[in-house]
Amino acid sequence: MECADAEQAGRVTIPSPPTLHCLSLPTPFSVGDVNVYLLESDGYGGGPTLLDTGPLWQPAETALRQGLAAMGYAVSDLDRIIISHPHADHCGLAGKLAAESSAQVLAHPSSRATLEHGSAGSRWATLFYRKWLTRSGVPAQVQEAIAQGRATTRQYAQSVRVDAEVNDGDRLRMGGSDWETMLVPGHSGGLICFYEPETGILLASDHLIADISSNPVVEPPPDGESGRPKRLLQYLQQLERVASLRPAVAYSGHGQPITNVHGLAKERIAFHYQRADQVWESLVERPATLFELAGKLFSVELPPIHLFLALSEVQGHLDMLEDAGRARCSTDGPICYWTAEPISN
Ligand SMILES: [Zn+2]
Repeated sequence: MECADAEQAGRVTIPSPPTLHCLSLPTPFSVGDVNVYLLESDGYGGGPTLLDTGPLWQPAETALRQGLAAMGYAVSDLDRIIISHPHADHCGLAGKLAAESSAQVLAHPSSRATLEHGSAGSRWATLFYRKWLTRSGVPAQVQEAIAQGRATTRQYAQSVRVDAEVNDGDRLRMGGSDWETMLVPGHSGGLICFYEPETGILLASDHLIADISSNPVVEPPPDGESGRPKRLLQYLQQLERVASLRPAVAYSGHGQPITNVHGLAKERIAFHYQRADQVWESLVERPATLFELAGKLFSVELPPIHLFLALSEVQGHLDMLEDAGRARCSTDGPICYWTAEPISN
């Protein structure tokens, strides 16, 4: 397992079957390298499966080709490309690799629209974000900067056709083992992980990352549906579900393997409850818009894409408070002002 830290691997026995390989690829994003995984053969004579591809960015593509070559493969050998979720650092190269290999592309149905049409840039998504940001009290010129930041990110992904859908509970034969698909909405609505019960390995993508708390990115509702999906509420549920499996190790989309999956998932849950309390305390002092809260808890001077993520996170904490009856939004015109609800005993 090439992405595992040798020192950590020496201290804890990490299950690492010889058919599972991790390739760490550079990205132009502040998150740093992305981990993609190659699972050799399906045990029935099929070719290798690539889980995630890295961004459409020359240094990433070069590193991927070199990594595959070191294992004796070329892009044209790929049988399947699975996309864990439609973020550029994970899926950007998929279209190019699929065209070159005629590999079958698999993803969850919720990721299909974004992968095929880049729906993050669609009119529907643009309108949704404008409405959400306006309601959140974000000034027009900041909204413009956020829209530009999102457009810049999209340069690193090419649209790709999804050939087959994978759903929660589906079993996939990869690297000679049977992997169970887990849909874990939170960081993204269609995020999928893969779990192998015999070895206890979880291919976690961005659901759980060793050094970074996954962001509950605000996304538009699926086509034809109304109402913003409450991603942090979904994420907390899925963290509980993954924790209860007690995987032996999680191989993530970024960073080192996680050997205390249960402990880290519980730590992340506690972190979000703590942050929600902090937001509530701030609202007790005085009502505020989401933009004002993000400025208080983070900074409005952040680069636009980081500000978008900060807004997503605080929105998640407001959703938790609203769900628990501890905060509510009162509108004065188009803007939502959040107020704390007193605790009832
Ligand atoms: Zn992501």
